[in-house]
Amino acid sequence: MRLPAGARINIVGAGLAGALLALLLARRGLAVALYERRADPRQARPERGRSINLALAARGMRALERAGVLETVRPLLIPMRGRMVHDRGGAVALQPYGQREHEVIYSVGRADLNRVLIEAAAQHGNVSVHFNQQCLRADPGTGHLSFHDGVSGGEYQLPLAPTVATDGAGSAIRASLAAAQLVGVREEWLDHDYKELTIPASAGGALERHALHIWPRGGFMLIALPNTDGSFTATLFLAREGPRSFAALTSAETVREFFAREFADALPLLPDLAAQFAANPQGQLGTVYTVPWHVRGEVLLLGDAAHAIVPFHGQGMNAAFEDCAELDALLAASDDWQELFARFEQSRRPNTTAIAHMALENYLEMRDAVLDAGFVRRKALAMALERRFPERFIPRYSMVMFHPEIPYADAERRGSLQEQLLHELDRAGGGDAAADSPLAERLIRERLAPIGALAPRAAN
Ligand SMILES: Cc1cc2nc3c(=O)[nH]c(=O)nc-3n(C[C@H](O)[C@H](O)[C@H](O)COP(=O)(O)OP(=O)(O)OC[C@H]3O[C@@H](n4cnc5c(N)ncnc54)[C@H](O)[C@@H]3O)c2cc1C
Repeated sequence: MRLPAGARINIVGAGLAGALLALLLARRGLAVALYERRADPRQARPERGRSINLALAARGMRALERAGVLETVRPLLIPMRGRMVHDRGGAVALQPYGQREHEVIYSVGRADLNRVLIEAAAQHGNVSVHFNQQCLRADPGTGHLSFHDGVSGGEYQLPLAPTVATDGAGSAIRASLAAAQLVGVREEWLDHDYKELTIPASAGGALERHALHIWPRGGFMLIALPNTDGSFTATLFLAREGPRSFAALTSAETVREFFAREFADALPLLPDLAAQFAANPQGQLGTVYTVPWHVRGEVLLLGDAAHAIVPFHGQGMNAAFEDCAELDALLAASDDWQELFARFEQSRRPNTTAIAHMALENYLEMRDAVLDAGFVRRKALAMALERRFPERFIPRYSMVMFHPEIPYADAERRGSLQEQLLHELDRAGGGDAAADSPLAERLIRERLAPIGALAPRAAN
């Protein structure tokens, strides 16, 4: 690192990205002060209303490995080999995510993962963690960061520069910079919300544990991910308003009727459905676009604070972890904070914009397309093409989930070329065997450069 060892940096928000970043920067010799609004999760119960478990994939795992915590996290992980699709009639079919043994994604509990990361950061001599400290605003004009101390009730200020804001999708720091017109923010909310429901361990045994369960219903869906205690966390994604919506589910009867009609095989797994439905919060989903992510070398937005996305590709945390790894990598080659923050934004923005688009597209795929015969046919053809041309054709889902060496922006660009090609080959007929046709060979060689020839990443 060309920045002086022992240089001080503030990180605001000890969530998934903040805790991992604190550890990475401490390992580089920086003195990290980490501030968190919540109480110490190693002593308190997890906050309600956040997603309970998450899908961790190769990009996130690579960043955890870089920080030396992957082996500590590993016992928390449950491999999921594919989507277990439940149709209306109750029939189930596994659609594998990949075609190699290691091509799986992992269900992990948010609270457990966050606790491990905070513990690892707190154990490092270069990190001081301050809980119950709510950041109120960042003010580059006066050079201050303002906090409310949840223990004493008082307010105080700290020197701002340099600060990394990892205070999540509702970032107070982003809001204060936007109010001062130092950054521009666009928030695009979906008109679909979500609600989480717990399938208790006593009922969870009825579901295959090593899969992400999905009840796609065209326009809405239910999903469920396994937890280490044998329970599953189910999430209903549904329109906020309209005839088939959260607004229409106003009583225990309407909720039960809706589940009996739409998700009949899930109903027996949710013995206290009506009570949970009434008690659990209904969350909003949206994409946050911010420009720029930094103000000089004083403050940088990272993770959801900079670029929150909808959860349908299971990549928000993975992208935030990849941010942390990228900032860490760029640190080695930067002379000052401003240069570092600017290079970080330049390298990451095209990629986080790409995953924001792909995550929105994946909602349509999950709730509608997985039941479509054409989709299933093209998916099988894509797998066959990957087997025949592994150096040129990798299904887009696999590029995003299993190939961290392929930046999101390249996955999006190659993905749309491949999608066109799949439609052309599918129209020409022949099913999976089309992968062996001279037409497939010609189109692939003409349109898809070898993956190894992609531009190398900015740093690693
Ligand atoms: C329903 C749902 C499902 C999801 N599923 C997946 C998935 O399967 N895979 C995946 O990769 N991603 C998933 N995500 C996205 C993932 O949750 C986020 O991308 C990830 O949590 C971002 O990490 P972060 O550290 O930037 O923000 P957060 O994890 O939100 O952390 C922010 C931290 O800042 C603290 N904080 C907030 N405000 C302040 C303040 N003013 N002062 C001090 N501290 C503050 C918070 O308490 C928190 O600890 C999902 C999201 C949702 C909503």
